[in-house]
Amino acid sequence: MKPNPCETCGACCAMYPVSFPEEEITENSGLVPSDLTLSQKLSQRIMKGTQTANPRCIALQGCIGTRVRCSIYLDRPSACRNFIRSWEAGTGNYLCDRARSIYGLQPFSLY
Ligand code: SF4
Ligand code: SF4
Repeated sequence: MKPNPCETCGACCAMYPVSFPEEEITENSGLVPSDLTLSQKLSQRIMKGTQTANPRCIALQGCIGTRVRCSIYLDRPSACRNFIRSWEAGTGNYLCDRARSIYGLQPFSLY
């Protein structure tokens, strides 16, 4: 099996605010552990740690660019499920490439 580049990256989990509908938290019968999230306006939640100027999701374990894992991978919010690695599905993702560049990792696309 081909290695998954995300397992040695993690840049996007420490770059962007991770917001999603409040229905997704366990308190509302969803999957995302409520205690790892904060309230936001407009019925949204945000992953703790990603609301700051220097974000890093509370669920991200390991060292960016070396070896990482999401401690709630199977229960992660829709924002993460919908974030597709650049060229994983045949198209570039500027946000993935930008996050990798900022952490000194080779982006998959050149802009
Ligand atoms: S920035 Fe791209 S390659 Fe890195 S973890 Fe996120 S989706 Fe995967
Ligand atoms: S929940 Fe997991 S996949 Fe989503 S930002 Fe946090 S560490 Fe990354």
